[in-house]
Formats: sequence, C-alpha cells, structure tokens
Amino acid sequence: MNASLTSHVAGYPRIGEKRELKQSLEAFWQGKLDAASLDQAAKDLRLRHWQDQNAAGLSFVATNDFSLYDGMLDLACTFGAIPERFGPAASPLTLERYFRMARGRSREGGAPDVVPLELTKWFDTNYHYLVPELSRDQSFHFSWDKPVRETREAIAAGFRPKPVLIGPVTFLALSKLAGSDPLSLIDRLGPAYRDLLEALAAAGAEWVEISEPILACRRDEAVLAALEEAWDSLRPASPLKLLLSVPFGRLGDALPRICALKTDGFHTDATRASADLPWLLANYPQDRVLSLGLIDGRNIWRADIEVLRALVASFRAKRTPENLWLGTSCSLQHAPHSLAAETALDPDLRSWLSFAKEKLGELAAVAAAESHPDLSAAARAALANRRAHPGVRSKEVRSAIAALDDSSANRGKPLAERLALQRKALGLPLFPTTTIGSFPQTAEIRRLRARHRKGDLDDAGYQSSLDAAMRETIRLQEELGLDVLVHGEFERTDMVEFFGEKLEGIAVTANGWVQSYGSRCVKPPLIWGDILRPAPMTVEVSAKAQALTSKPVKGMLTGPITILQWSFVRDDLPRSLVALQLALAIRKEVVDLEAAGLRVIQVDEPGLREGLPLDPAEREAYLAAAVRAFRVAVAGVRDETQIHTHMCYAEFDDVAGSIAALEADVISLEASRSKMEALSAIVSGEIGSEVGPGVWDIHSPRIPSTEEMVALLERAAAVLPAERLWVNPDCGLKTRGWPETKAALANMVEAAARLRISVPQTT
Ligand code: GLN
Ligand code: ZN
Repeated sequence: MNASLTSHVAGYPRIGEKRELKQSLEAFWQGKLDAASLDQAAKDLRLRHWQDQNAAGLSFVATNDFSLYDGMLDLACTFGAIPERFGPAASPLTLERYFRMARGRSREGGAPDVVPLELTKWFDTNYHYLVPELSRDQSFHFSWDKPVRETREAIAAGFRPKPVLIGPVTFLALSKLAGSDPLSLIDRLGPAYRDLLEALAAAGAEWVEISEPILACRRDEAVLAALEEAWDSLRPASPLKLLLSVPFGRLGDALPRICALKTDGFHTDATRASADLPWLLANYPQDRVLSLGLIDGRNIWRADIEVLRALVASFRAKRTPENLWLGTSCSLQHAPHSLAAETALDPDLRSWLSFAKEKLGELAAVAAAESHPDLSAAARAALANRRAHPGVRSKEVRSAIAALDDSSANRGKPLAERLALQRKALGLPLFPTTTIGSFPQTAEIRRLRARHRKGDLDDAGYQSSLDAAMRETIRLQEELGLDVLVHGEFERTDMVEFFGEKLEGIAVTANGWVQSYGSRCVKPPLIWGDILRPAPMTVEVSAKAQALTSKPVKGMLTGPITILQWSFVRDDLPRSLVALQLALAIRKEVVDLEAAGLRVIQVDEPGLREGLPLDPAEREAYLAAAVRAFRVAVAGVRDETQIHTHMCYAEFDDVAGSIAALEADVISLEASRSKMEALSAIVSGEIGSEVGPGVWDIHSPRIPSTEEMVALLERAAAVLPAERLWVNPDCGLKTRGWPETKAALANMVEAAARLRISVPQTT
C-alpha cells in the first residue's frame, strides 16, 4: 500500500482572511492600537494560518512566512543590516524603528521623518519588497530572533514547523550596495545564516527551507559562485536538514551544478519548471528529498486532482517515496485567502476556483495515500463544467481574432506624418501641458462610492455627483491653462477593476485580496472567459467632458497588457491570445471614443515592463506579443486622432526598443525622480513618439517649484528636440489632495510657458 507523501507550503497569505493585519497595522500607525495588541493580532493570525495548514493534513506548517511588513526587511533586521539613518547600530529594534525603515515614519500624521527603504517588485508578482541597503564594510550578525520565535510559537501550539528563509544569494542580489556588487558580501553572510540555522535547530526545527527565487532569472557565474560559497559556509553543526527551493522558474543548464550543492533536498516549481522534471527525476540523488511544487501558488484555478495523482504515481515509481515531497509552486502569499467570502460570485465560476485555503486541501488530496473519490469527482465535474461553459469560448471573439492581419496592427500613415497632421488638427503649442488622467480621489468621492455601493445613494444621485466633480475638474484645468484636459476618472476605484467590471469574460471578487506591500492589498480581477465588450465603457463621461470645453479632452483607457498583468488570467489559453482579446475590446472603445468626438485618447500601459518574463529566453516573445496587442488596440482610428500611452517608473533600458515599436503618438512616463534618466533610456530605443517625461513626483506631497520643473525640462530638451516634448506630472493625481494639485499644476503650466520662450525649436 502507498503511504501519504510529505506535503508542505512555503508560506500562506499573511494579511488574513478579513485583512485583519491591514486593520491592525493601520490602527497601530494611527495610534489607536498599542504594540502589545498588534503583537497579539499577529500571533492570532499566525495561529489561524497554521491551523489551516494542519487541518488540511499538511505534514508541516510554514513558519517565518509571516511579516508585519515585508520578509526582505525582516531578514535585513535579522542580520542587523540596518542603515544608520534609522538609528545607531546598537539601538534596539523597536516597532517604531522597524516601521520607519518601511514607511519613513512610525505613526500617521505629518511628513515622513526619514527616507524609507525603497519599495520594488518581487520577481514577477504584484507584491513589493523593501530593498535592503548595505554598505561596503557591512557586517552581518544574527541579531533579531524573529524566525526563531515564530518557530517556537508553532511548536508550542503543537505544530511541526518548517521555517522558510529567503536565501543568502537572493537576499544579496536584491539588495543595494553603492558602487559595488552586493554579491561580494557573500562570504560575510554565510556564517550569519549558519548562526540563525543553529538557533532554529535548537528551537526544534528538523527542516528549514532556504528559498532562492533569484535563480529563476539569474544563473550567471557570479550568482552560481555565490551560491556555492554560501552553501559551503552556512551548514550548521547540528543535524538540521536543509531544503533548497527555487520558485518562479526553471533552472535549465544550471541544474547539475545547483543540485550538486550539499543540500538535503531540492524543491522545484513544477508548474513553471516542468522542463526540468525529467532531469530531476532521473538524476537527483535518491537519498535526498525531491519536492515537487505541483499546485500553482500563483493562480486561482482549481486543479484536476486525478491528473496530478496520476502524475505523482509515475514519480513514485521512479523515486524513493519517503524522499518524494509535494508542495505548492511558490508561497501561497500571492493567492487570495479563501473562497468562503465569495458568495456573490457566479456559482459555476466559483466552482472552478481554488484560493490559498482550498489549495491546501488540493495539495493534501494529491499527496494522500488513498484517493478521495468525492473530492476528485467534484474537481472533475467543476473542470468539465468550466470547459463546456459558453462564455469560455465565444464564436464572435474567436473569429474576430482569426480575422486579424498585419494591417490590424498598423495605423494609416507613418508616425512622423501622423504627428504633423495632429499638430495641425489639435493646434497645440510647443511644450503642450497635460495630466495623466486621475484627479484627487478625496474622502468625499470615496464616501459617495461607499454610499452608492450600500444602496444609500441611488444611481442618479451618484451619477450627478460624479458629473459635478468632472465639471469642476474641467473648469479648473481651463483656468490653469492646461492644453489637453482629462475628465478626472472619478468613477474608477482602480484602473483595472473598472474595466474588469464592464467586460464580459472577466469577474471581480468581493474579497480576493492579495498583499501588494505593507498594509496595501489589491483585488485582481479574474479573466475566465473570452473577452467581449458588451457596451461602451467610458464614452459617455468622456463625451460629456469634451462638450464642456473647446480644448481637446483625452479619453482614458487601460491597455490590454496592463489588464492582463494585474489580473488572474485563465490557464487554458496562451496569455498572448488573452492579450489580443483584450486588445480587440479596447479597440472598440477607442473607435467609439473617436466617433464621439474625442481627438486624443490615452491607453495606459504601466504593466508592460513589469510583465517582462523572469526567464531571459521568454522575453522576446512576450515583448512581441505585448507590442502587437497595444498596436491592435489603438490602430482603429484616423491619423489625426492622437494616441497617448503612459508608463510608470520602470527600468526602461531593456525594453526601450519595444516601447518605440508601440508607435504611440505620445508617451508620458515617470521621470522626475530619476532626473530624466528614464527619458534617456526611452530615447535610446530610437523612439519616434513625442514624449512627456514627468516633472512632478506625485508620490510625494511636496509641491515642486516652477524653477525645478524648468530645470528638468531643460535637461529633457537636451535629450529630445523641444518640439517632441510634452509637460506633465509623473503619474495620475488620484492620491494627491486638491490644494497641492492646484499649486503644482499652476507651477507646471508656468514652467511650460517659460520654456516656450527660452528654448528654441530645432526645426
Ligand atoms: N490614468 C491613470 C491615472 O491617472 C494612470 C495610472 C497609472 O499609470 N498607474 O490614474
Ligand atoms: Zn503612472
């Protein structure tokens, strides 16, 4: 008879089923909750999450996956890598000090009192980590016992813990070290890990998972050598077992070298690294644990238990079963908590889904000795229902996709000729001024929305309040003297959710939150079927706004790649096809906006750069598909209609050629903090578009002076001819207040006016 296989996860959503962590953190920051109560709330969450894993039947519970803010920050604190501006090295790690690193302040109110660590994206997830700052004389000491405490806590509660640590190479590779490669510090970090591991062993851990996601994107000599050096020094004297895990990708040619490390086991992301499985099954030593991450931790689709059990049976035949473990592809932190709250979801769709809590059950069922016929049959039935659902496959959409040809992605005249036509048609001055779309979403607007949602405000009342906000915003922009106006996006909570609610084939959840950073969560829509636009989505409000002014108003849309990137995407179609379906839906909207009299239309694509695959081998195909989707979305209009796009801050260097290939007429981007370096990066791709490099850092409440903006624009004019420059803020103004918005935009318009006089045109 078969025995059950060992099962485990690398982490569970920390925010809590009802976002309890968010509420506790924000109450603490507002001074409404004391440190002891915050600590208790965190303990309660950890306990509940371990109970979930245990109740599902997993062999271990993950520990140290919890964090009050972020795991990279926690690890920096664990090893005492705290920059001096957060207090003298020897000072104790209080909650105040911890939150100052994360947010620049420990409590709400006033401006941040210190510059926090930088936030940036965690691999290709929508989670953001804090970037540790290291110095050349950095030393690392195991000095904060958080991982050990949480492990003891799990043992005391009666669970078998498997602490999870971010590995030393990932930690360093993602840290900042001015003027030097952070991997050069690896020889100092190994011994600190060893001390931590020793303490975890003493606390009672048998196994520790050391996770090295960096290997999913970097397998260069520097990384592999650092990995070898670390593993030579981190092994403790005690008989602790170490599982090396690599979520998010495959290892390819580097497999033999990585598997030669002296680990006690290796965990692979079997959803993304399926190409590595044959080698692992044939070559990975039988006396070590091979752990397969078969349940997709990154998506929300229900698994076919029987198919996975059959796959596992074939592995069992080749491997010593005691040394064959099963897990999720990566930590479940990137999945929403549970389906329990989704009572309003269409019951068919709901039956196709599996959130973190449900995934625990799936994992246990796949690992179990005996099959659970009921569970397997329920999964089978749900998946059959999904495949047969009419919305999954629309004839109309499929034939529209099949009818696409090269001309579908091309506008009439070449970019330069279009720009000349548009300049004439729109009558814009040199250095035209505009904004990125949203205007302040004040407490009042949010209150209106909440009342409308609850039914306390009827549709007509809600609509007329939104209209009033829009009218006021148009009037203000005219008064300020902006050249291309926007309606303000008051009707949108989120630029993706708004379209997700209006498009067929996409559903939004009630409680499908995933942590974005700290206490911030996002609720990605679910793309489950073929995408159709049943009716215009933004035409009415845009046309109303245009009717109020003789200045051009920009229609405002979210682009296909961004909708794709910020959603959970169906797994039964290639992503490139889903992107094209989205592109066709947006294209209809673009054409309708033009017909309604909008002469400028912006299609935002802040998600384009972040969708870049981790594996360099997949990047070219992704970029080609992304460029095609954007072009299809916008190519339906006349040459006189001006298409804008917008991107937020990103490393543009490696995608500059693709951004040029979008051939948007105008692109705005975040550039003020990088002092226009982002513009130089874009220009290096030989872009033919006009460009609006942001001159106002909208992430800060500070109001930039006219002089500052003039200086930034002069820098920009040294990189790109003056007649191709636009003047705009870095991004939307949704999070800003009205007084600062008015003041900063007035300065911005003034800066453009000065430039028109001082900077000569080159042609
Ligand atoms: N049009 C959007 C806005 O202004 C763009 C936001 C973004 O780029 N993230 O809010
Ligand atoms: Zn932006």
